[in-house]
This record gives sequence, C-alpha cells and structure tokens, in this order.
Amino acid sequence: MPLDHIVISMMRSNKWINVLMLNSGESRNKVINVSANGIRWIERNCEQRLLLSEYFLINTEGVNSPGGGTGGEAGGSSGSSVNPGNTASSENDSCNVSNVRYLRSPEGDATLLGLSLQCVDDEALNNNTVEVGINPLQLRFDENTPIALHCGHCATELVPMRRYGPVAIPVCTMEAASYFCPKNKTPLIPSENEIFYGLNHIVINPRLFEGCVTQNRMHVHCNSCLQQLGDILGDGVALQLWADTLCIGRLNADGTPSQYLMELFRPVTSVQLMLRLLHDAVPISFEQTRLFLKTVRPDGQLLYLLLLIDTHQIHLLRSKLALTSDLHGPQQQPRALIYHVEGHSIQDIELNGYKGCRINYQTFFSDEELKANHDLISLWQEMGTPMLRISHKMMVELVSDLNMNERLVMNLEKLSPADMDGRTSYLIYELDSEIFEKKQLQNMSGSRRF
Ligand SMILES: [Zn+2]
Repeated sequence: MPLDHIVISMMRSNKWINVLMLNSGESRNKVINVSANGIRWIERNCEQRLLLSEYFLINTEGVNSPGGGTGGEAGGSSGSSVNPGNTASSENDSCNVSNVRYLRSPEGDATLLGLSLQCVDDEALNNNTVEVGINPLQLRFDENTPIALHCGHCATELVPMRRYGPVAIPVCTMEAASYFCPKNKTPLIPSENEIFYGLNHIVINPRLFEGCVTQNRMHVHCNSCLQQLGDILGDGVALQLWADTLCIGRLNADGTPSQYLMELFRPVTSVQLMLRLLHDAVPISFEQTRLFLKTVRPDGQLLYLLLLIDTHQIHLLRSKLALTSDLHGPQQQPRALIYHVEGHSIQDIELNGYKGCRINYQTFFSDEELKANHDLISLWQEMGTPMLRISHKMMVELVSDLNMNERLVMNLEKLSPADMDGRTSYLIYELDSEIFEKKQLQNMSGSRRF
C-alpha cells in the first residue's frame, strides 16, 4: 500500500465510517475540515478534497459517536486537528466535534476520523465497488499437451511424457476420499488417461505410478528422495497427490523435452483462495466461519493456519493513487484532476470501493508453536472443523497479505493486539489483475508499510 493513502471502512448497519489518513512527514500538521459533503485539508499548498456526497452525507449535527473508547483530541493545538468551525466548502454545515472521533497516531503518521452518516446511497456505492467472482482453477496443460510428472523435490521423473484429459472435481475443496470412495457406493476409478484435480491436489490411476513410489501405510513417497507425495484412496482405487509436491515437464515447440520443470497449476491469489474456501465452507454461526488450513514446507515442516472469519462483508473505499505520487511523482500521471482557481490549487481525490472480509487468525509455524498450542488445535479438530491442505505458496501469500493489512486494521479499528486472541486483519477482494500490478509495483519500490 502506498504512503499517503486514504482508506475508509464503512459499517452500513450503523451508518458510520472510519477514515484513515496515512500522512507523510511533511503533511502531519494540518487542519482537517469536515462538512456534510466530505473532508478537506491543505497538502503542500494544494487543497485536497475528498468528496463523499456521491455515496453518503456526513452527519454534522450534534450526534454522539458510537462505541466510545478512543477519541477526543479534536481541535488540538498541535499536529493535525479537526476544524470545529465553518468550512470553506459551499456547504455551511460545520463539523460538530461531538459526533466526530479523531485520533492521531503517536508517530503522527496516521490520522483516524470516525464520522456518523446522515444517509447512504447504496446504489451509487455498489456501482463504484469492484466485484470479484471466483475464477476456475487453471492447469498448465490440457488434453493436447503431453506432460511428464516429476517429483517437485528431487526432480526425478515419475511418469514419462503422455497426454491426460483433465477433469475438475465439482467441489475443489472436498476431501478426495469422499468423492472417489463414497460410503456404500461404487468407487470412482480414474482411467489412465485422466487427471482429476482440486484446489491443491490431483487424483490419478495408481498403475501409472507403479515402481516409482514407495508405499508406507496409506501414504506414497518418492522412491528417490522419500518426499511424501500423497495418499492412497480406498483399497487402492486411486492416488491423491499434492500438487505442490509435483512438477511437470513439457515439450519445446520443436518437440524436444524442455529442460525447465513447472508447477501443475497457475498461481491462485489469496483473494481467489479465500472466496473459494468461504464458498465451500459451512459457517459455524450466523456471524462466523472457521477454516483450518495446513501445509507442508519444502523442508518437511508442518504449518497450521487457524482462521475465524466474520461472515458479514466489510466495505472499503480507498484512494486510487498515493497523494505524494499524484502531486510530485514525475513518472505517474495523476488520475485526479487538479483545478487552479485564482492562484489556489484544488485536487479531488478519487476513491474505489472494495468488499472484503475481517479475519482473526493464528499461525503455528514451528514444532514449538505446534506443541504449545496442541490443546487449541485439538479443540478445533474435535469441533469438526475440516483440515484442508493448501500449497505452501498459497499459505505464504495468504499470511503475507494478512500480515500486510494487520496494521491497517489496527489503525482503522484502533484495536490493541494485547486484547485480542490471535491477530486481526482484512482480506480485501481485489481483481487478479490489480493484485499482480500491485505486486510488481511493490517489487520495484521495495517494502511498504502495510
Ligand atoms: Zn523425489
């Protein structure tokens, strides 16, 4: 997330918004004017306008802020302050400090405004909200592409080059054993020309792997490096293999074998992963869904991720570009229009709407952490939460995104980590194209604050 950024979280049910303004060092001392139409302040001699009346009108009457807790510094003599007097906008409504929560971080780099709303235009808000649907899983081969299956750890060829017809398992997070070996029903046996696939696994005819894997009880291991590749289903009707333990070899355009091995699936973003998991999961109540994710690191370390997800979607409005980039970035075209009126510069900040979910999460990434939290892990298992194995890459991406948004949530909600069981974050539903573009920018510019 860029520096100098504005994020608005919205609670539609109680007509309340939290406005988080992440400031650069130069813009810490400023007066923020709040009117029914929006928020204004001066940034490097340019008036910044956050016009919100398209979506909602801010309540500038004397309404007490809900929730209590933090607040109070409005109109302070130093640092940022909310202007309690008349604003310079066309609206004469002024900000009454009693309906505004105002808080500046001790470092002065973040300002939080809590504002109650008079009314919300749901249609306008929905029209400016990015809609993200579930994309199908994408394999790196089809029925016309011959592939060889290799161990992902030692690269040994397990099954020589041949063609397969890929078949998607209808519910890709479903336990493979339930699908292929249903109780009291005839098992489904994949033919030698089929590869069934789910979120992080393939299911294949066991005859293809004869002689190249070692069986240990119900598990199969690579003959060369002994990495566990997957499990035997039923009485040996099929093999379930974890996609992140394998890779594939393909042919070059001239028909010669390529020296490069690749993963079976194209990358799945954290957003796509979460949407899919939530789509398939059974909520534990009207308010929460529980997910229990597991992965195995390439060095064999077991990792657990416990997630408690609010089923109510959150709604965020986020500025499109960093303000610093808008004003001073020579490489970027500002998306917001800058007006010049009688020597006075005004810039309207554009916002994009996003949906997302609020997540409480706990990670156990070492034997010590797993041992220390054994009782909690057992409790989740006893409560019937299905444990789902995802790829190590998916786990890294998801935890990294949650960690990145954790401070944003702390600022937006002013939560104290000490008061929480686990950590709290948001996953913001962005389109794949936007996520890939953002990652590219982050790689170019180094680490970000969130
Ligand atoms: Zn191997």
